[in-house]
Amino acid sequence: MSDKFDVIVIGGGPAGYHAAIRAAQLGLKTACIDAFAGKDGKQALGGTCLNVGCIPSKALLDSSKQFYNIAHNLPVHGITVENAKVDLGAFIGRKDKIVKQFTGGVAQLFKANKITSYFGKGKLLKGNQVEITGNDGAKQTISATNVILASGSVPIELPFAKFDGKRIIDNAGALDITDVPKRLGVIGAGVIGLELGSVWRRLGSEVTIIEALPDFLGAADADIAKIALKEFAKQGLTIKLGAKLAKAEVKGDEVHLTYEDKDGAHYLVVDKLLVAVGRRAYTDGLLSDDCGVKLDERGRIVVDEHCHTGVDGVWAVGDAVRGPMLAHKGFEEGIAVAEWIAGKAGHVGYDTMPWVIYTEPEIAWVGKTEKQLKEEGVPYKVGTFPFAAIGRAVAMNEAVGQVKMIAHAETDRILGVHMVGPGVSELIAECVVTMEFKGSAEDLARIVHAHPTLSEAVHEAALSVDKRAIHKGN
Ligand code: FAD
Ligand code: NAD
Repeated sequence: MSDKFDVIVIGGGPAGYHAAIRAAQLGLKTACIDAFAGKDGKQALGGTCLNVGCIPSKALLDSSKQFYNIAHNLPVHGITVENAKVDLGAFIGRKDKIVKQFTGGVAQLFKANKITSYFGKGKLLKGNQVEITGNDGAKQTISATNVILASGSVPIELPFAKFDGKRIIDNAGALDITDVPKRLGVIGAGVIGLELGSVWRRLGSEVTIIEALPDFLGAADADIAKIALKEFAKQGLTIKLGAKLAKAEVKGDEVHLTYEDKDGAHYLVVDKLLVAVGRRAYTDGLLSDDCGVKLDERGRIVVDEHCHTGVDGVWAVGDAVRGPMLAHKGFEEGIAVAEWIAGKAGHVGYDTMPWVIYTEPEIAWVGKTEKQLKEEGVPYKVGTFPFAAIGRAVAMNEAVGQVKMIAHAETDRILGVHMVGPGVSELIAECVVTMEFKGSAEDLARIVHAHPTLSEAVHEAALSVDKRAIHKGN
């Protein structure tokens, strides 16, 4: 006899585990099936984000920043440290410990919320039945009134630079390198390329990033991207724009690359090659032929604005569906679907979805860029403020970058905020809240910001929209 649930979630990543916990909180009998195995072969809940994404990458970014600061920041404070070394075993070990703490934490939350957890692959069958294939190959079938698909994404593989896990690596490989490569090649100057490229650059690798598009960070505001590119160049990240990889050949301990740009073909030899050219929705083995769920031209599960697949009681959330591939987007969709299932009013703030890139300086934005508003013919005004004029940033020796605020020319409503600089991953939250409440630049300009803090850059940028910033000429 098959077990019957109110809700089955397939996938225990950020989107899936949020859906499962919220469903259980709402009194629904919930199960979650996840196939991710940790380094010890045991189930490791939390998906890409906790195992090989957000958390481990931030752990390595933080560790490498400490090391980099010894030579590049501490001397300015009058502190010198000689012969600083990195113990790579301890460096990676610290990251692994954090991963285990958080994946184990999700398992504890499942227990506390009485969620039935299955370790294996789930396949949606017709009539909301789900077949589970355990890691030992044993099969069982369970069913539910509602099934939430949260199978996430995997890295895109280039046919001419296939992952071998040793020389040509993906994000997971780049989080587990055991010797600092002398030369690291990166394909793709996107979020992963910049974050993980920064980690290994700070530890001493010569990092060359090859990016197909002519513009750097096309999704970000152009002024912000320009400042960031200049800073990355100062740190020694070599970024080749408008360059397409044509060939990658592993020869002994090296990878020989051929790439082409407007000047013709170029050759580059590296010790490791990180391919970070985007991710694709992962639905391998997820859907039976007759389950009724459809995929779009990019292989993503088709859903409406409520994450419903069109098949009675079947929903899909996170990286496996349209929209940005961000953990917090998955969190919100998972929670909203559980609430819709329980008859409540779920909500996802797609228009105020923050983006953060955790480089040094950090990059963060919410809402529209100036280019988008121009294309849409929306009248706007802009206020900017540099961190160079922020006392706290100067005291920290991190006075690089700026805040740029864009408001509607007539209503003053904030349409977008774009930042590059210290701590902007945290500063962006204030702007998200203001925009979600349909606030104006004047609202932020009239709100007290503590002095001296980095948040004063947001306050001054809001004042600058009305040409009345105090600490700069307008
Ligand atoms: P996933 O996290 O991919 O989880 C899906 C889970 O489902 C996996 O455990 C998978 O094994 C399981 N699964 C798939 N199919 C089945 C099946 N048939 N049966 C059972 N289980 C199945 N986002 C941010 O917002 N901030 C960041 O700083 C950030 N950093 C990142 C850094 C890196 C290096 C990478 C790669 C990604 C990063 N992301 C970040 C993106 C973020 O990790 C993803 O957006 C997020 O994990 C997506 O969540 P998800 O639940 O949809 O899918
Ligand atoms: P991405 O889309 O951010 O960047 C991929 C880059 O590769 C693009 O700039 C693209 O133009 C380039 N590219 C594509 N094909 C190429 C080719 N053949 N040669 C050279 N360049 C090529 O993708 P990503 O960096 O792989 O990250 C995947 C996703 O993971 C991100 O889009 C993001 O949603 C998520 N992520 C988020 C964070 C964060 O929020 N801080 C961090 C890491 C990853």
